[in-house]
Amino acid sequence: MRCIFCKKDSSLSVAIEHVIPESLGNTKLTLPKGTVCDRCNNYFATHIEQPILQSNEFLYLRFNQELKNKRRKVPAAKVIFGDQVVNARRLGSLSFSFDSEDFAKIEAYLAAGGDKMMIPVSGTPPDDTLTSRWLAKMGLEMLAHRWQNIDRWNDYIVEHAGLDEVRRYARAPKPGEKWDYGKRRIYEQNSSISTPDGQSAQMIYECDILATGTEESSEFYFVVAIFGVEYSINLGGNSMDGYYVSGSAGPSPDADFSNA
Ligand SMILES: [Zn+2]
Repeated sequence: MRCIFCKKDSSLSVAIEHVIPESLGNTKLTLPKGTVCDRCNNYFATHIEQPILQSNEFLYLRFNQELKNKRRKVPAAKVIFGDQVVNARRLGSLSFSFDSEDFAKIEAYLAAGGDKMMIPVSGTPPDDTLTSRWLAKMGLEMLAHRWQNIDRWNDYIVEHAGLDEVRRYARAPKPGEKWDYGKRRIYEQNSSISTPDGQSAQMIYECDILATGTEESSEFYFVVAIFGVEYSINLGGNSMDGYYVSGSAGPSPDADFSNA
């Protein structure tokens, strides 16, 4: 087995790679040992996933959706009592704990007649370069996940020259390199969908690989929706031209879409 990013022998690697971070609610979408070597797995965790998950946008998503990390903890976040900003740990949907110093501030605010508590619903998104590299990483992994039952899938992905740009960009971009990606909200964070058996459920994430163009010049796009925000990136290189029609969000109506 060789790593789909650095192409080095990964037969002795032990890490189980999560396509979407565990801290965003993914426990099922994983890759067999060695698909991503331990070094690359570590690199992505430290240099891409951690800063993404700690950005205010994802921090508040995790806080508000009570998403637990690997250590089964929901991250702490800042909440607002009038003019006081305090650090809160979430114990339940409407139950919080505070440090004693912050608790004193809240008590003083309430004693002075204050009556407002606010929890931000969104925050500043992570850096664009980081976001696009994260999408590149998840996209190549999703291809591996999709193809893992095909004979010689590992050789095919490692030797596919058309995927060299995306693996390089995810793992070792050139200085200043920044790929385009798409981002738009397609449904509300808490909206529910109907399941086939008639239940109502919250969509945590969904992702897919789309192929556009002709068979000779096909392009693979990775599309993932996380709590209602859809992200897309071209796995063939830095261009979203085949996915957008003159700047408007959404697939081109004349593109030939089929599941890869
Ligand atoms: Zn590797």
